[in-house]
Amino acid sequence: MKTVYFDNNATTRVADEVVEEIEPLFRELYGNPSSMHTFGGQIGRRIREAREQAAALLGCDPSEIIFTSGGTESDNMAIKGALAAAPNKRKVITTRVEHPAVLAVCRDLENQGYAVVELSVDKQGRLDMAELNAHLDDDTAIVTIMYANNETGTVFPIERIAQMAAGKGVVFHTDAVQAVGKSPLNLSRSSIDLLSLSGHKLHAPKGVGILYVRKGTRLVPFMLGGHQEGGRRAGTENVPGIVGLGKACELAAAHMDEENTRVRNLRDKLERAILKKCPDCRLNGDPANRLPNTCNISFEFVEGEAILLLLDKYGICASSGSACTSGSLEPSHVLRAMGVPFTAAHGSIRFSLSRYNTEEEVDYTIEKLPPIISKLRELSPFVAT
Ligand code: PLP
Repeated sequence: MKTVYFDNNATTRVADEVVEEIEPLFRELYGNPSSMHTFGGQIGRRIREAREQAAALLGCDPSEIIFTSGGTESDNMAIKGALAAAPNKRKVITTRVEHPAVLAVCRDLENQGYAVVELSVDKQGRLDMAELNAHLDDDTAIVTIMYANNETGTVFPIERIAQMAAGKGVVFHTDAVQAVGKSPLNLSRSSIDLLSLSGHKLHAPKGVGILYVRKGTRLVPFMLGGHQEGGRRAGTENVPGIVGLGKACELAAAHMDEENTRVRNLRDKLERAILKKCPDCRLNGDPANRLPNTCNISFEFVEGEAILLLLDKYGICASSGSACTSGSLEPSHVLRAMGVPFTAAHGSIRFSLSRYNTEEEVDYTIEKLPPIISKLRELSPFVAT
């Protein structure tokens, strides 16, 4: 059975071009870039090239790129590093819909005595800019707000937010893990100070990411040891990961238009058909400002996990908004923050596409999903028959 992979916000297939680029780094070019000999030294050049490729995608200077182990590390480094650099400031502003890589850090900071403001969102997942403005003050060390939401795809007005923070002299960090490669960026012309990205959401391998640090932004390193990454992130470099991420950044720039045309059209076709063919379902997220690949739909009166299991029988991979892996079956914190009713939040499914998806896969899913929903509704104790 063919796999239809609609879970690209969880992770993506590594691009063939990336695999080709990194294979020799395991077999032949395995030296340590810090070595004095030519064999190791030549690897340093590959890292420099990757830094340039990433800088070209982000529109920044290569010296502003720090390679990390992924989005989680970049988020941790940005927030903790900025706070350590401003020990007299005790306030952090974030949102209720961040990824746990930001939320868990903020909640830990709260336990340490920081004042943490979690901004709320409206029914479509949008922020209230006046609320943000009201909270920005001299005690604020950092504002950390995601570029695009991983569950709903809602895109925040990041440049406006960054300018608002800059206007008050507050450092601004954005978790752009889901946005890079889909939303064009030009950091040299932006007010963003710190930006996180993750390789495995971008057709690069897992375990590599980037923290962009605008020149002049004060950040205390928290990985200590060797002098790698200019002393800002110690540890022997994940050379294949870094080289692969560089190549993936180059490919992302080349495919950005396709994400916003062909992939968007596929997503729209899938979404329109589901909303038309399945009664009692609703779209979650801001329809006007959304990633082109993401679609989050709530199916009333059915469990998301049950839908996933039945889709899985047809080889269709998606994900649900309930944290069943935690054993709690609590609906997602993002949908809860948006005020999605309990019965709808439990039946939410996220389809996230990539450039590797085809129209045939969309048509196949449109054929298989509606009977699954009808069948589950027949069994549901919540539906009056
Ligand atoms: N931030 C967001 C918005 C994400 O979607 C993810 C991964 O799902 C992360 C951070 C964590 O990235 P990583 O898996 O590279 O640690």
